[in-house]
Amino acid sequence: MAGRIRQSDVEEVKARTNIADIIGERVALKNAGVGAMKGLCPFHDERSPSFNVRPQAGFYHCFGCGESGDVYSFLTRMDHVSFTEAVERLAGRIGYTLHYEDGGAAPEHTGRTRLYAANTAAAQFFRAQLQTPEAEIARRFLGERGFDAGAAGHFGVGYAPKGWSAMHDALRSQGFTDEELTNAGLVSQGQRGVYDRFRGRVVWPIRDVTGQVIGFGARRLFDDDKGPKYLNTPETTVYKKAQVLYGLDLAKRDISRDHRVVVVEGYTDVMACHLAGITTAIATCGTAFGSDHITVLRRVMGDDSTAGEVVFTFDPDAAGQKAALRAFADAKRFNAQTYVATGPEGLDPCDLRLRRGDAAVRGLMETKVPMVEFVLDQRIAGFDLASVEGRVGALRAAAPVVAELRDALLQPEYVRVLARRLGMDTEDVRREVERAGRGASRRDERSPDAARDPEPPSGETLTRVTLASLPRTADATLERDALMGILQFGHRLDPSLVTRALSLPFRHPALDAVRRAVEESSDAQRPGWAVDAIGRIREPYRSLGAELLAADFPALDDAAAVASTADLARRLVIRGLDTEKNEMLGAIQRVPAASDEGRAIRLRLRELDAQRQQLVAEAG
Ligand code: ZN
Repeated sequence: MAGRIRQSDVEEVKARTNIADIIGERVALKNAGVGAMKGLCPFHDERSPSFNVRPQAGFYHCFGCGESGDVYSFLTRMDHVSFTEAVERLAGRIGYTLHYEDGGAAPEHTGRTRLYAANTAAAQFFRAQLQTPEAEIARRFLGERGFDAGAAGHFGVGYAPKGWSAMHDALRSQGFTDEELTNAGLVSQGQRGVYDRFRGRVVWPIRDVTGQVIGFGARRLFDDDKGPKYLNTPETTVYKKAQVLYGLDLAKRDISRDHRVVVVEGYTDVMACHLAGITTAIATCGTAFGSDHITVLRRVMGDDSTAGEVVFTFDPDAAGQKAALRAFADAKRFNAQTYVATGPEGLDPCDLRLRRGDAAVRGLMETKVPMVEFVLDQRIAGFDLASVEGRVGALRAAAPVVAELRDALLQPEYVRVLARRLGMDTEDVRREVERAGRGASRRDERSPDAARDPEPPSGETLTRVTLASLPRTADATLERDALMGILQFGHRLDPSLVTRALSLPFRHPALDAVRRAVEESSDAQRPGWAVDAIGRIREPYRSLGAELLAADFPALDDAAAVASTADLARRLVIRGLDTEKNEMLGAIQRVPAASDEGRAIRLRLRELDAQRQQLVAEAG
């Protein structure tokens, strides 16, 4: 086993990696002030962004939950990889060859890295198998659904051979162990050893948001196959079905740009949509659309999603209706508007494209209705609206849906919509909705979901010193702003000015703790120094340091921020000079004017005045 990665390599890889690129693959970031970007925090659930990234400092910080760190700590926390894996992964991205302390040069192969590698190897194997004579049935399956070789290639679709060990043998010969293949969910354990999980099936590789293959979805092809129609990778350390969205790797960029996502039901629907030009289509993998999927999507859509839209396509059959109702229950967690689009004659996107072409698939989006309306119609559908009993029953069934709308403008609007649908008096409908709302809010208080939303984790956070808790005195404000500027732009200032500004104790104890840590990082010209400085601060002050590094420094642009920081640093020095001057003026009263001591004090006073004047002149 290879040893530790050489420290200089760790730093080099970090310096060459833009943290915004890495975080941006998982979280939609937008510019927020000078040298800063913002997005929804991936570490806690929130609706407005408090997750800040500073590419120049190589640093991120969440003002909501306090998570902060560099690109390595982001990967270890976000993807649950080890520190070594994080470094190896980033080195791999930029083609950098790492060196290991004990002379070893081979990367340390740890669990997750091997799972990704095994899945990638399996995807390549399945893809190659699609060309074999045995795979004729799979090619026909795809062809009948309108997918030629090019389409299959674009999505990496493959074929899993019927035998029990073809994939197993191929991956064993590439050096993967049975344990690794088992952990990757590629083989199952039988009485006489392991055997291929996917056999005689069309196979879709499922990738995470960064494009790494994490598992597979596979469809039955043979009549004698007694297995389920669709079979997926089981839960593994990299494949979590509650979070996985098929097509997200391809759709991510457009989802983030258009603030729109189209949720379809199957792999072939995703393919059909993308090929028809709806490049924001995704699907869940063998599970209903749930709240974890929303969390993943919200992160990709960004906080602008209030302007965005989520369009669900559901089969109008019973299963589709159930899926719609389930999605509606969760849809409140989107900031975006939610819609339902139903194809003509209930055709799903794949069949629609097959029978009516690409334009019809794009046209599907024009049939979309707000999800509330769709759900209202579902609720009403079973009642005979010609009878009084039917109308009252429909009202009782539909009122809770309208009651759940928290939007003050939407609710009265849908009261009117419902009244029109039922042919009832608006006032009667409004009363029933209110009644239903009172019942719902009592339920909410007891539901564990209600307490879960945006609150940051409490406990230790209570004792954390934060920016908001600092006093608004002139001294604390100067100390705060100067530290903020130096942490963010200090490497662009004259180092001697920074050293002078930080040489005197601050008056606020928490800010002074940050100052000491920053002062020790005297080599402020080195990239990433600020993150290291924060790392040296002890709690409960570390989060204050992190906030200072991440906060919006008020300035129009980079140059103005540097100038303003220099000014703040000078004011700190001037404050120190003034303090000393006051001490000297006190001391001079107590000593004879003609004494040596008196002369020394007068000399020092003149020096102080000269220094002060020079600083004031520099400040302009
Ligand atoms: Zn957070």
